[in-house]
Amino acid sequence: MAGEPQADCLFCKIVSGDVPATVVRETGTTVAFRDINPQAPTHVLVIPKVHYPDAATLAAAQPGVAADILREAGAVAADEKVDGTGFRIVFNTGTGAGQTVFHAHAHVLGGRGLEWPPG
Ligand code: AMP
Ligand code: ZN
Repeated sequence: MAGEPQADCLFCKIVSGDVPATVVRETGTTVAFRDINPQAPTHVLVIPKVHYPDAATLAAAQPGVAADILREAGAVAADEKVDGTGFRIVFNTGTGAGQTVFHAHAHVLGGRGLEWPPG
């Protein structure tokens, strides 16, 4: 069934607690945890508890949960005190864009200068 946990999915295992993570926020529909290979002083991933392969697919199926991801990304930025200086929410989508984990996730990046356009 759409959205069900996938046995071979790393982020489903973080949701279930089978793989440890440094969780900074959790709601009924989302988990936010520190990226294991941070690219900025603040680098937190916000994921839905439901499994969809990317953010657009999540938004098409469960738009309320996609909105929850954005709200939580803002809350992470406020918690990390990068909301004043600016932060970036990134959804890499597809291998050509650098997506390596096919469970929807937002990167929240901040705490350093963020060039535009990104690479
Ligand atoms: P992406 O390349 O956009 O799919 O992002 C996947 C992100 O997950 C990368 O930034 C990885 O560093 C991060 N990552 C992979 N494994 C873990 C893990 N066990 N805990 C936290 N972050 C992870
Ligand atoms: Zn998953």
